[in-house]
This record gives sequence, C-alpha cells and structure tokens, in this order.
Amino acid sequence: MNGIKYGILHSQTDNSMRDSVMTVEKLVAQAKNLGASAAALTDHGVMTGYMEFMKLCRKEGMNPIVGVEAYVEEGNEGARHLILMAKDYIGFKALIKAVSESNTRIAKVDGIWCPRMNKDILSKHFGPNGEGHWHVIGTSSCIKGVLATLITTKMETEKKVEMLKTKQKEYESPKAAGFLKNTKAFETLNIRQRQLEDEIAELNQIANRSLMALEHRAQEVFDGSDEGNLAREVLKAAGKEKEMVCMELEAKRQEKRTVDQEMSVLKPVIQQQKASVAKWEQLQSQIEEARKGCAADESLDEVLRQEACWYREKFWYW
Ligand SMILES: [Zn+2]
Repeated sequence: MNGIKYGILHSQTDNSMRDSVMTVEKLVAQAKNLGASAAALTDHGVMTGYMEFMKLCRKEGMNPIVGVEAYVEEGNEGARHLILMAKDYIGFKALIKAVSESNTRIAKVDGIWCPRMNKDILSKHFGPNGEGHWHVIGTSSCIKGVLATLITTKMETEKKVEMLKTKQKEYESPKAAGFLKNTKAFETLNIRQRQLEDEIAELNQIANRSLMALEHRAQEVFDGSDEGNLAREVLKAAGKEKEMVCMELEAKRQEKRTVDQEMSVLKPVIQQQKASVAKWEQLQSQIEEARKGCAADESLDEVLRQEACWYREKFWYW
C-alpha cells in the first residue's frame, strides 16, 4: 500500500498515558508501510519517545518530526489540545523546555494527570521573543483543540440550556397567570381579613357596652315629667343602636367566616405553586450559570478571531 504522499502528523503511542497502546516501533513500521516520507510523534503532554522514534525513522529512511500534543489550560476550564512540532533543532530545544515547564503545572483533568502549558509558557518559548519563535509549528489539533473547544463548549452549553428549559416546562413560572392570579387573590383576602378583625373588635366594644346606667336613670325619674321622657328616649335610642351594631357585627362575622374559608382553600394551592416556582427558579439559575463564560452568539466569531490571532502571532513562520 502506498497511500501517503508526504507524512503522518498527529500520532500518539503508548508514551501517551491512557491514550494509545501503539508502540513507537509499530507507528514507524506502519508509516513506512503507508509510504510516508515523514512522520510526526505527538504524544500527549510528553516527548519521552522521541529518541527511539528518531532512531527508527532514520533507519527506515523517513524524516522524523518531533512534537507533542500539549495540554493547554489556564485555570480549570478543561485542558485543551495543541499540536506543536519542531521544525529544527532550535525548535526542538524550545519544545523540550516548554514541556519541562508544563510539568510544573500538573493537574488532574478528566481523571488524568496532565502537564499543562498555558499562554505564559507558550508566549515565553514560542512568542516573538521566544527561543522557539519561527522554529515550531502549531496546529489546531483535534476536536479538543484550543479553537475547536470554543465552538464545542458553546454547543454543549446550548444543549444543556435546552435540556434545562425542557425540564423547566414541568414547573410553574413566577410569571404564570394562574400563580399571579392566586397570589393576588390571597393578598386581597388577607388584607380584608385583617380589616374585618379590626372592625369586629371595634363593633364588639360597642355591642358589649352596658345600658344599666341609662335603665336606672329611666326608672328613677317620674313618669310624665320631661326629664323622665328624655331619659326613656335616650335609653330607647341606645337600645336601638346596640341592636343595629349587633346585626352589623353578625354580618361582619359572617363575611370573615367566608374570607377564612376562601383563604384556607387557596393556601395549599398557593403553597404547591410556590414549591413549583422555587424549582423553576432553581433551574433558571442553573441556566444562567451554564451561560456564564460562554460567548454569546454574536460574539463567538469575535472570540474565535481573537484567539486565532493570538496563536497566529506565536506560531507565525512564513
Ligand atoms: Zn487531541
């Protein structure tokens, strides 16, 4: 088989922890078998196989390209991948230094201990003032590449947000008409209930007022005298007033019983709605959290452009 015109790039061997079971020997043999004139060794985070690789490539008459698929992570946003390949010996030395430095930033990412580069390390060794500038090729790597992840993170976020929104439909929104109507009705009933309590207390005082003094006065004064007539008139009016108050009191008590009843029916309904609204709001904060740190649609192009420009400046070589 003679299917490869130039060379094989981006290949990993068992030097890449938990990433490949292929030996360097098999890689070189297969590259040779495919007719490649060159092959690159880009193990994940390490360059430990390069000596054996160079020796075997030379033996097979192939051009060995020494490289690494670096992990790039600033904080804990997830390690992204970046293929770096030495163009020459200067580039090789810069690569060795950068990989060594990445070992001072080892962290466990997705269950694997990764030596991580970051933009400081990349700038220092490959930027315009770095030893390896123009001597190392950087490529966009894979789906977990430094640029690709900007897009995939966006897609994953959209998927997650869509899932959370679907879940949200099972619950009551704080703006749902039914919830707003019931809380408003309960509030109105609550205000009326307190008003009635005050009014009943006030009427109670009048209804319980004693007429004994007026009755004594009416009995004490002689019949037929003006004073006696007036005392009886006053007693009669007071009795009439008390009767009216008692009727009003009964009407208020009846209204309060109705209000109490309506509130007791509405209360469990609102409690249930409030629990549902709380779930809705919890999902809403998860949606907002997921959207944080993810470029909005209109800015994704700009974020990608800026990031691509940053890498182009470091690995500009023509
Ligand atoms: Zn990769």
